[in-house]
Parts: sequence; C-alpha cells; structure tokens
Amino acid sequence: MRSTILAVVAVATTVQAQPALHPTAQLLTEIIRIDTSNPPGHEGQIAALLEKKLEPLGFEITIVPTPEAGKAHFFARLKGDGSRRPVLLAAHADVVGVEREKWSVDPFAGTVRDGDVYGRGAIDFKGGMAVFARAVMMLAENKVPLSRDVIFLVEADEEAAQYNTSWLARTHWAQMDCEFALNEGGWIIKDPGGKVQYVSISTADKSSIAVIVTARGTSTHSSMPRPDNAIFALSKALARLADYDPKVQLIPSTREFFATLARTSAPPLADQFNALLSSDAAAVARADKALSVDPLLHAIMRNTIAPVLMNAGFRSNVIPGSAEATVNVRTIPGTDPNEIVREFERVIADPAVSVRLSTPFAGPSTVAPSSQDTDLYRALVQQAKATFPGAEVTPYLFQAGTDAGAWRSRGVPVYGIYPYPITADELTRMHGNDEKVGIESLRLGTEMIYKTLVDVAGRK
Ligand SMILES: [Zn+2]
Repeated sequence: MRSTILAVVAVATTVQAQPALHPTAQLLTEIIRIDTSNPPGHEGQIAALLEKKLEPLGFEITIVPTPEAGKAHFFARLKGDGSRRPVLLAAHADVVGVEREKWSVDPFAGTVRDGDVYGRGAIDFKGGMAVFARAVMMLAENKVPLSRDVIFLVEADEEAAQYNTSWLARTHWAQMDCEFALNEGGWIIKDPGGKVQYVSISTADKSSIAVIVTARGTSTHSSMPRPDNAIFALSKALARLADYDPKVQLIPSTREFFATLARTSAPPLADQFNALLSSDAAAVARADKALSVDPLLHAIMRNTIAPVLMNAGFRSNVIPGSAEATVNVRTIPGTDPNEIVREFERVIADPAVSVRLSTPFAGPSTVAPSSQDTDLYRALVQQAKATFPGAEVTPYLFQAGTDAGAWRSRGVPVYGIYPYPITADELTRMHGNDEKVGIESLRLGTEMIYKTLVDVAGRK
C-alpha cells in the first residue's frame, strides 16, 4: 500500500512539472505544422484539420474549393436563434515564405520554448486563427445560447494570389454576409516588462495603387548619346520623388491613435505626439520629422511612395526610347488616385516624363472606415479594457491592406486586431525570422475574444 501511495504522489508530481499546453497554444502548434507558405498555400489542409475539431461540437461546416487544387476556404457556423444578424471572425490560413537558414528553430515544427510558440504565422495570422477558433469552440463547449449565428471563416490567398476574400465575396457572398466582423489589424502592444500599453483596433486599411512613371527620349546608337536619354530622365524623376514626402494627413482614427500614444508615452515622445496633433504647422513639421524615423508612424500619417519595379533597355549598345518605373503608393482612406498622378507630375516637372495609374480609376474610394458606433466595436473595447487593466484602447488606420475590403466595400463594418499582447521586438519578427507569440498572450487574447462574442452574440 505504502509503495502504491508513493507511486501516485510521484505521478502527480510529474504531471505538475509538465502542465498541459494551453488549448489555444496547443492548437497553434498543430496549425503551424501545416506549411501553408503561399504560393502554393495548401490551405485545404487547414480546413481538413479544423473540420475534425469543430464539426463534433455542432458547427455547420462548409468547405469552398477554389479553381486551384488544394486551395480552399473554410466556414464553420454556430447557429443562433436568428433574432440578430451574424457576427463573423476571419483568419487567413496562408503565410509568407521563410528564409529557413536564418531561423533558430524549424519554422514549421510548432516549437514551444520558454513560454512562447515559434513558427511562421505565429503572429500573422495563425495565432489569430487559433484564438478565434478556440473562442468560438468555447461558445459551443459552454453551450452559450446565441441570438445570432457566429461564423468562423478561414481564408485562402490573403498573402498572395487571386482566390482571396474578394473572389469569395463575388462567388459566395451569402455565406459570409454578416452584421459585422473581426479580422487581423490593430495591435495589443506591451512593454518589455509585459505591461500592455495600448490596444489599437483597426477600423480602416490603407489602399494600394500602382503608378507608372514613363520617361521618353530618342532611341539611337549608344555611341552617340543625346541629351534626351530616357534612362537619365527616369532617374532624375525618381530622385525628385525620393526627396519628396507627401504631406501629413491625419484622419480621425489616426488622431485618436496619436492622442493615445501621447497619453501612454514618456517625454519627449509624448510632447512630439502632442505637437503632431497641434494646429501649429511648424510644430507639426518638426514632430513629423522626429516621429517619421519610425517607418510605421511615417506610414500611417501620409500617403507613401515606394518605387518597386524598373524596366528600361534591351541591348547594351542601344539607347532605349523609353524607361519605365512602377511606384507603389499606399493611400489613406479618401485619397483620389488621380490626385496622386497630378502630385507626381508637379514633383517631377519634366515634359519628357509622363505619369499614369496602372489601372484607370473610376471614382473616389467607396471603402469608408468602419463605424465605432456598433455593438461589436463597443464589446471589443470593453473586453480589451477588462482583460488589460490600465491599457488605453484606440481606433487605428492599418498601414497595409488586409482582406477586410471584401466586407467594408459592401458596407459591413470590420474591426482588425492581432488578438495577443506582443512587444515591439516580436512585431519586427512578423514576416521576418523566429516569429513567435507568448502562450500567456494567447490565453489572454482567447479570453478577450470569447467574452466579446458572449457580449455580442449571447442571448440576453
Ligand atoms: Zn496577415
């Protein structure tokens, strides 16, 4: 008997020494092990894994194949009583590729080390997928009575290629129609000590346009150069754009974001944020210069200009008649792309150089920022404050594009968040090397999203 008791104690001690992984972290390791680098994506494998986990809990599963083999979208719908319109959570299944030799762990092994889950997509956005999946699974496990359907969508082709949510919206809108939705976007930023400073919820994304800059000159023998060389003219035009920075334009959500940073930062940073928000043009310019050292802050306060492709010449002894550059411009909501063309023409000021949009633009942007006056936005703000006491919550203009456009362009509000506290260091690993997310962050994020869903979809 005595020895038996000792054995039981020993077993109990062993179990305590190696506690089970938090369910969200456990699910994330499984998802990371499916390599969905896009291309080709293989998103259908994630759909198969999630179907096995969600169908037994009572979710209605629909897998939408795309014309590309192995690439699919996954819907899991938990039925409510239909008295209110659905809420949707969207996560993309694909990830960007890796520079494998620069990682300290296998990026597709789901390694757990020192309280973190490592792997491609840990932050963008398999971590979010795991949080959203666990939050909706908890609704089913806890048998929460629902007044509306809760739809969990795992998408293909967000990082690349054509069968993305825009394609899905054209072909399967009825499945994804909802009152409002959550996806990736804003941040829960914590300091190195682990305290959450602020939570930003994106209510709008920047748009992306391609501007073609073309210089023309005389095509002739390279032994007799003339002053109208197209490659020189294009180089000068790009040099003028390099020295030019579009003016600061703060939309309401960006103003709120900077006001939040002003409250949560120490001087002198706090003073610079306040100066940026002031009406003193010289103070704004000084603050812009100081704060724009950070490429993210630089990007959210203006339209940005980045040459990405050049095309000129075809033989080493021929001066080409034209030279062309593609310039990627990321615009803040409300920007008229035709106005960008005129701005480029003014800056370049060379009759030998022409500027046009790669695809003609019909009219002003129809994708308005999502309203903060909805039950979902209010619930998310409330639960963010409850989960991270003392943290400020602010709307945010996301500096890049996401898959939210499929809904926002149809008038459905979308709120973006990477639902786990991360540090600035962890943020730089996104699309980089040794991407990781904390297990405690995943736990807190799951709690926040679950409670948000109970708030917004639970029967009162
Ligand atoms: Zn992403």
